[in-house]
Amino acid sequence: MCFFDQHRFMCGDWKWGHFRQHCNREYRIGETCGMKLIMHTVPVGQKCKLCEKIDTKVRRRQAEVDRITRWQREGGKFRASIDKSVEIIRSLDMEIYEMSCERNRRLQAVGN
Ligand SMILES: [Zn+2]
Repeated sequence: MCFFDQHRFMCGDWKWGHFRQHCNREYRIGETCGMKLIMHTVPVGQKCKLCEKIDTKVRRRQAEVDRITRWQREGGKFRASIDKSVEIIRSLDMEIYEMSCERNRRLQAVGN
């Protein structure tokens, strides 16, 4: 069991950081035994890349919703634009859903 830092992001996700210390199961110089343990937890003052990507998509989706609300106030003039916007929202929803699944998979894959 070799020791590594753990980087913990604001969103609660984490990743392995720097290697810190070998254990006595080390079998070759310069190699780790493959079993990782946490030495220090280093707080990271931001969200992980995946969560930031999700946030970006959520903001983009909100912007589309705002556009539709504005267009709807104008009456029937912007029907084509609204349809297009609805399509964009639908595909953003799918991307957000897939990224959330990816995030859940990572959360469950503890220790790799
Ligand atoms: Zn995250």
